[in-house]
Amino acid sequence: MQHENETRICQNCKKDFTIESDDFSFYEKIKVPPPTWCGECRFVRRLAFQNLWNIYWRNCNKCGDKTLSMISPDHRYVVYCPSCWWKDDWDGTENAMEYDPSRSFLEQFKELREKTPYNALSSLYTSLKNSDYSNGLAWCKDCYLIFWADYCDGVYYSSMLNGLKYSADCLRGKNSELCYESIDINKDYQTFFSEECDSCVNVWFSRNLYNCTNCIGCANMRGVSNCIFNIKYSKEDYEQKVKELRLDSWQKLQDVEKQSYEVWLENPYRSYTGNSLNLNVTGDYVYGSRNCKNVYMCDDIENCRWTQFVTVPTAKDCMDYSGWGNSASRIYESVAVGEKADSVYFSSECWPDCLNVEYGSWNIAGKNNFGCANLKRKSYFILNKEYSKEEYERLKAKIIEDMKVNPYIDKLGREFYYGEFFPPELSSFPYNKSNAMRFFPKTKNEALSMGYEWDDTIDKIYEATMKAEALPDTLQETKEDILREIIECMNCGKGYRIVKGELDLLCKMNLPPPHECPKCRENKRFARLKPPKIYKRTCMKCEKEINTSFAPDRPEIVYCVGCYQGEFL
Ligand SMILES: [Zn+2]
Ligand SMILES: [Zn+2]
Ligand SMILES: [Zn+2]
Ligand SMILES: [Zn+2]
Repeated sequence: MQHENETRICQNCKKDFTIESDDFSFYEKIKVPPPTWCGECRFVRRLAFQNLWNIYWRNCNKCGDKTLSMISPDHRYVVYCPSCWWKDDWDGTENAMEYDPSRSFLEQFKELREKTPYNALSSLYTSLKNSDYSNGLAWCKDCYLIFWADYCDGVYYSSMLNGLKYSADCLRGKNSELCYESIDINKDYQTFFSEECDSCVNVWFSRNLYNCTNCIGCANMRGVSNCIFNIKYSKEDYEQKVKELRLDSWQKLQDVEKQSYEVWLENPYRSYTGNSLNLNVTGDYVYGSRNCKNVYMCDDIENCRWTQFVTVPTAKDCMDYSGWGNSASRIYESVAVGEKADSVYFSSECWPDCLNVEYGSWNIAGKNNFGCANLKRKSYFILNKEYSKEEYERLKAKIIEDMKVNPYIDKLGREFYYGEFFPPELSSFPYNKSNAMRFFPKTKNEALSMGYEWDDTIDKIYEATMKAEALPDTLQETKEDILREIIECMNCGKGYRIVKGELDLLCKMNLPPPHECPKCRENKRFARLKPPKIYKRTCMKCEKEINTSFAPDRPEIVYCVGCYQGEFL
């Protein structure tokens, strides 16, 4: 059936949103009704079902041991430590429920969620080595306080990674080594305090560099070496200048940073962050992708809309999908689903090898499951109860029909019918401790008015033994006893430590000890990231209308892709 674009009112924020003709074809193909929430509200709701960055100590509800957990100790959910959760002595069938047609299906699913044991951490525990203090990890070794990462080795305090090695304080780092305080880096070696650098070696305080070596404070350079503040030097002069800059001193680094940012601002930005391999793409932090609309932080995706955080390629034919890829296809309204997942709808944490799963919450290698929670390696299950293939198809069809007339009603009186993601109040995480807060900060009242929970507890504060201002200016002056100190963060005043592996890395890079706590450093990196929002404005060169994540009041010079590539490729 041919559809026109249609404007509707979002059930959540009450603003207008457009469902495009292509979107209708997608919904028809997978036999779901069009959404009643706008794209941004749908995205926020999915993110509210994931918490990677806030971890607590609590006791495992099985073995009783102390475990790090993304679910707070005050929460009503049953939580197993990763070791107990991944053991084969249970599979989720213990809490099987019979469907009761007189009650709303999602109400019964909520009951099931509260009975089945949740995993303390969102990591593939069996693939990790010496990386316990982290969350959202697979195939990592010797990592500490990193979040959302695959295939990493020796990395500290970093997020959203794929193949990063011996690095610290990075955000969105791919296939790079010995990097520090950098954002959106790919195939880099020794890249420090930089952004959007690709295939670079020994680069400091630079942005949008490709294939460059030995550069400091540069912007938009291609295939150059020995440049400082966009000025080219001979090898000898460059080396002399570097000595004068004293990049090993914390004080001097602050000056170089300030000067570098001036160079960044004087030079134009591409309207979005990505590479020239993108074809017909709107969104930001997108690389090597084709035919995608409204996407964010994705690598190698095709025919996707409203898709975010595909940090491990690939994803195909997905809509309203928030991570993380790794050969995912036909995913709709789901978060933290991937690794050969196919046709997974309205689900969170379904991986690996999931097929035809709807309303799944932690289905491991599930095939043909509907409304199951914490279920491992099962097929044809509904509410964690087994059926024959024929019984399953019949009952699933009946439940879908029931859900169309008997909705879940939340505490705000909102109705949730078949064909959309879970109601906010089913989340295990308060809004301010979920990934949603990271990308869409809201006040307590805003969050509560949208049906999310809120956590008022204040983080424990450690008594500091020294002030950050008293830290040595260089690493040469730093002694190992620094590891015993609790340093008072320059920014928030809370105590933090420098850990042994971090000190060893700083030593390798000859960088001074950080003067702010890991949380403040992390928050600052995220604040530098361009948000997953699209604004309409004009190219500052040709005045053509562009879609960009640079808000109209930002100070940067923003060019359309054509004008940017005309000058810098
Ligand atoms: Zn909305
Ligand atoms: Zn346990
Ligand atoms: Zn701090
Ligand atoms: Zn232009």
